[in-house]
This record gives sequence, C-alpha cells and structure tokens, in this order.
Amino acid sequence: MPDELDPSVQTDEVNAEFKYPFHWDLDFSLNIGEDNRKFFEAIEDKKILGKKCPECGATFVPPQEVCVECYVETEEWVEVEQHGVVESYTACFFEFGDLPEPPYITAAIRVADSDICMLHFIDDIEYEGHDELVEKLHKGTEVEPVWADEREGHIKDITHWRPVE
Ligand SMILES: [Zn+2]
Repeated sequence: MPDELDPSVQTDEVNAEFKYPFHWDLDFSLNIGEDNRKFFEAIEDKKILGKKCPECGATFVPPQEVCVECYVETEEWVEVEQHGVVESYTACFFEFGDLPEPPYITAAIRVADSDICMLHFIDDIEYEGHDELVEKLHKGTEVEPVWADEREGHIKDITHWRPVE
C-alpha cells in the first residue's frame, strides 16, 4: 500500500489495490428519537404528519427537529395531505439483500408541500423497458400512498406510493 496517493495511478488501479472483501449482516435497534416515534405512530393510524418551522413556516415531512434553513426548533405538528410529487427516482434491476424483487423503483417524494423529500418505493406502474418507464414516471409525477392492511408503526406501513390516476 503506498504511503500517499500517486496522481498518475488510474482510478481502476487504486480501486483494485484497495479492494477488500466485506460482508455486513447486522440486526440492531436504533434510537429514532421522539419526533420519529410520533411520526411512525401516526403512520400506523394511516396519517402522515409533518412539523412546521415557527420562523419561516416551512413544513418538513418526515419531521425535522430543527429547521434546515433557520436552525430554530420546530414545534407545531400538522397532518398533511396524502399526496406527493416525485422529485427524482431510480429504477433498480439488480437484487440487493432483503430489498424487493427487481425491478423496483425508489424515489425522492415531496409529500404535500414539504420542504424536504421522503425516500420510498414507487410501484403499480406497468412498463416495458426504460423508454416506457420515463414516459410514465418523471419529475413532477403525482403519487399517493398505498397502505398496508396490517400496520405496526413502521415505514413499511406504507407499502409503496403509486401514480395518482
Ligand atoms: Zn425555518
């Protein structure tokens, strides 16, 4: 291993040199904080909550404890409309761990008029190949949540989002 990176070495060579076999398979619990707990409790009741900034009035879904612009603590909880707009997405055609069977779509979704996006799955789109997909799903596509029949206060209580008919 070189002491310092040599700029004449191509990226492929560096990658080959530093490649190391790795495997993660972890079960663990994470302290998600009070705001997220409240958000997930509402999800179990098929409600989507956001928090508002007292300074600028921005709404954050999922809730943020501090406004990303003003750096003041958010206080007011609001139940938001169950409507989203796709800001960007990725279609995945490869299998990864316990993620869904490919192909599947993950998207950054702006829920109601939130100032930040929520990451989630989009489904219920029939398409044959990329060309048809980009015709049916693009920045600005309106989506709605599809709720699981049995919910347990988890992000998967929304199984996915689908385009609004
Ligand atoms: Zn603010």
